[in-house]
Amino acid sequence: MTRPNIVFVMSDDHAAHAISAYGSRVNSTPNIDRIATQGARLDAVYCTNSICTPSRATILTGAYSHVNGACSIYSEFDYRVPTFAEVLHDSGYQTALYGKWHLGVTPKANPQGFDDWRIFPDQGEYVDPLMYGPDGEERVEGYATDIVTDLSLGFLNAVDRERPFALLVHHKAPHRPWVPHPRHAELYPVGSIPEPETMWDDHASMSRVVQDVRMTLDDLTLADVKEPVPSDLEGDERWRERSSWKYQRYMRDYLQTIQAIDDSVGTLLDWLDAEGLAENTVVVYTSDQGFFLGDHGWFDKRLMFDESLTMPMLMRWPAEIEPGSHVEAMITNVDFAATFLDMAGESAEALPAQQGRSFRPLLRGETVEDWPQSMYYRYWEHDDPEHHAPAHYGVRTATHKFIHYYNDGLGTPGSSDRVMPSEFELYDLVADPAELTNVADDPSYAEIRRDLEAELARLQELYGDRPYEGPDTPRLDWSV
Ligand code: CA
Repeated sequence: MTRPNIVFVMSDDHAAHAISAYGSRVNSTPNIDRIATQGARLDAVYCTNSICTPSRATILTGAYSHVNGACSIYSEFDYRVPTFAEVLHDSGYQTALYGKWHLGVTPKANPQGFDDWRIFPDQGEYVDPLMYGPDGEERVEGYATDIVTDLSLGFLNAVDRERPFALLVHHKAPHRPWVPHPRHAELYPVGSIPEPETMWDDHASMSRVVQDVRMTLDDLTLADVKEPVPSDLEGDERWRERSSWKYQRYMRDYLQTIQAIDDSVGTLLDWLDAEGLAENTVVVYTSDQGFFLGDHGWFDKRLMFDESLTMPMLMRWPAEIEPGSHVEAMITNVDFAATFLDMAGESAEALPAQQGRSFRPLLRGETVEDWPQSMYYRYWEHDDPEHHAPAHYGVRTATHKFIHYYNDGLGTPGSSDRVMPSEFELYDLVADPAELTNVADDPSYAEIRRDLEAELARLQELYGDRPYEGPDTPRLDWSV
């Protein structure tokens, strides 16, 4: 078979539960859904470190954060670590990357292995964004999502049809601060958006460090909600009403920015269909991680709860994937690079540091007997000044999740005692899929906890990571 083209669309912070193909209760994404109805919906894809830079570095390299070195958003990606894009480029693919990069802004952190690239520095801007490219920087007029679409079409229209291409379409949206295009201003008006069932979770059984994260709806700022909180909603006793008020405005803007991405996906699918290239082009839609959409009363990501851990992933490849198929096996973003290389007929060994496995057979509907039944997670960015999310690691299986917060430096602020004991969470995902009740200290779960602790240790060793062993253990600090 001729090597397939790859169109890899990735948005930023787009939770699966804001895609109608995944049963969204809050919005409609007809074009993204086309990928699912004409291809596969993957239902258990997890990121291994739920934050932008690390997930992107993991996707490119096929390696965990502690192996590729990009552990936090303050990490600059080391250009010497090989990526799947470089392998595809070296094997004759025409390659391009447009949009969010977020792996450093110094020249040595520029994208490698692309015939053409234009990126937003850092987080990027929604309107008239600054962009970097091989010829330097320029301010580009227009709306970021549409600019990325236009650049992508420009590349597609110029490709040599005799050779395969790999196009990375990496949108800034729907990342904070959620600035929609005016054409979507009427959608999802304030007051119309259903609140999630877990919005008033009291976090009572959770770890203290999780209770203390500043990711509650009430933590949304004026810049997030775009208008001052009405004076009658001020005061400690009105926090619920205020949270609902902020939720409606945050979600309106978040969902509107997604609509421009849905437009973009429609444009690219239409182009492939019209040009007769759909059959042997792999179209991927994913996001660098999930997001809390008021779930547990939160926004943002970072934590290992499913809304943040889960990545949406839809793939269309008519030559190989049955329309309307589902993949339920557990996959992580570590597996993406090996899969792309497999599709392109390249060996995963072309990336010596990669730790993933190709899930191409799963897309064909095959059963892989020794496919992993658990995944390892580690969030390294410790107690950043804005969100105060704690570093932690954990394991997820199809039925349970176990999390270890090691809490170094999280004692009482201002006190000389900055060491808190570790805290643990265990969720029974069958009895409690919403993850509302931490049963880590429930005696009836003692045996399950022991098994999960053993599995966590096994995975840490397997992937070359090491457990936290006290304040002297080397760890990454948000400030470096
Ligand atoms: Ca992100």
